[in-house]
Amino acid sequence: MHNRLIFFDTTLRDGEQSPGCSMTGAEKLRLGHALADLGVDVLEAGFAISSDGDFASIRAIAGEVRGPVIASLARARRLDIERAAASVEDAAAPRIHTFLASSDIHLEFKLKMSRAQALAQTGEMVALAKSYVDDVEFSAEDATRTDLDYLCQMIAVAIEAGATTINLPDTTGYSTPADYTAMFRSVRERLPAVEAITLSTHCHDDLGLAVANTVAGIEGGARQVECTINGIGERAGNAALEEVAALLKVRGDRYQVSNGIVLEKLYPVSQLLGEMISFRPAPNKAIVGENAFAHEAGIHQHGMLANPLTYEIMTPASVGQPAHKFVLGKHSGRAAMRSRLNELGYTLTGEQLEGAYAAFTELADRKKAIYDQDLLNLVAHHPRREEQVSLSS
Ligand code: MN
Repeated sequence: MHNRLIFFDTTLRDGEQSPGCSMTGAEKLRLGHALADLGVDVLEAGFAISSDGDFASIRAIAGEVRGPVIASLARARRLDIERAAASVEDAAAPRIHTFLASSDIHLEFKLKMSRAQALAQTGEMVALAKSYVDDVEFSAEDATRTDLDYLCQMIAVAIEAGATTINLPDTTGYSTPADYTAMFRSVRERLPAVEAITLSTHCHDDLGLAVANTVAGIEGGARQVECTINGIGERAGNAALEEVAALLKVRGDRYQVSNGIVLEKLYPVSQLLGEMISFRPAPNKAIVGENAFAHEAGIHQHGMLANPLTYEIMTPASVGQPAHKFVLGKHSGRAAMRSRLNELGYTLTGEQLEGAYAAFTELADRKKAIYDQDLLNLVAHHPRREEQVSLSS
């Protein structure tokens, strides 16, 4: 098992496949270039047979974007695979990603197919994809709700037919980290053939465990992770790429895998996506949220002023965020107020400081946030260091 982790970005496919996340072809192409600059290894550009627009945007990305492997999604059906193959024929490194459900509930109610029929179709369709490209990924849809013996049979058939990546998705967001690690370990124990290919995670956030399950998959031996920017995707979304990448950096002691993500580009790419779709990440979203590096409580602000390591496990600059923010509000203390007043040109000491802080807390009880103008009103009767203000501006 190699220690290089492959980041597979599916913002343009699973991500776009969710309410409010539609992008135009031109936007997808622009985001595709940004994702290549971010350092993703595989870029899933779309689902070729789903629409002419999707087909055209996959073709455009395959023709222009260099660096990542360009993947095109296909159900395990002849027409889907032919369309996917045509969509990536101009890519320098094309991949066909084909999938078939493996759980009994999907086979019986959605596909109306027996287990034996699904195995036969897996073999035929992976072989068909392999006739077009060397790089074939097979996903056993709903793998986490699939009987393990049958899952192993399906994986063996797909590898035999030429699949080079096997994805075991938690399609419904049902798994737990312990279950997900165990599934990968069991598959590796039962099927030595998987050591020659790459196992992949694909996790959904229905129970808020997408990122936790993704890193649990890495612990189980997965070496590809399927993620999206800002965690967008079907229903509650996919594993957020920025969270997985930051986790692997900050906790490199725990997860000893290397990867090619340029962390400083995480926030800019998140912002770019937010401009294109109809919503931005929640303010309290890890890594890329507007409050991810904001500190309001007085004890925290005081600690941060003494040494940022007291309350920050990574710097905002390391993930491309502008700078940590001190939000002044009713939980803020003297240290933060004095620091901000200093930046605004006021050096208050002793009684002056106490007086200003009493007025500040009285105001903060009435207002949700205190802006610079509020602070300036509080200290307007004190002298200001004009020369230092002009120097610092
Ligand atoms: Mn999905």
